Amino acid sequence: MEVIDNRPWNRGPLDPGPIDREYFEAAAQGRLIIQKCEDCGNTQFPPKALCVSCGQVPDWIEASGRGQVYTFTVVRRHGVEPFSSLAPFVLAMIDIPEGARFMGNITGIDPETIQVGQNVEAYALRIDETLALPLWRPIEST
Ligand SMILES: [Zn+2]
Repeated sequence: MEVIDNRPWNRGPLDPGPIDREYFEAAAQGRLIIQKCEDCGNTQFPPKALCVSCGQVPDWIEASGRGQVYTFTVVRRHGVEPFSSLAPFVLAMIDIPEGARFMGNITGIDPETIQVGQNVEAYALRIDETLALPLWRPIEST
């Protein structure tokens, strides 16, 4: 997963808790990770303390970084900065082949042309030395 280092962070402070922090730290290293339960095989996102299927402590696995748009909405107006300056932007749910469904922004696309089933890939926007935020962008069909 590419990490974009030269774009100033403009989405406000991010102070993840102990469970989320691992996800953002991995992103800063160019890895998209999700939780997978070794006991029952469940994969989940967002990260949680326990497996939502069986209650065991999940492990982390690295995902390929590719996915498909499950559904999306276009946010055309937002009342709070910095998001009002980013509008219109795409907020999507993205299915990845490892079995989890992400929620995130798709950037670099005309919101009028996005389609369900479209192929996307993850990239990360650096926040600081240790954290980055995974985002999504369109890729050509393979
Ligand atoms: Zn489980």
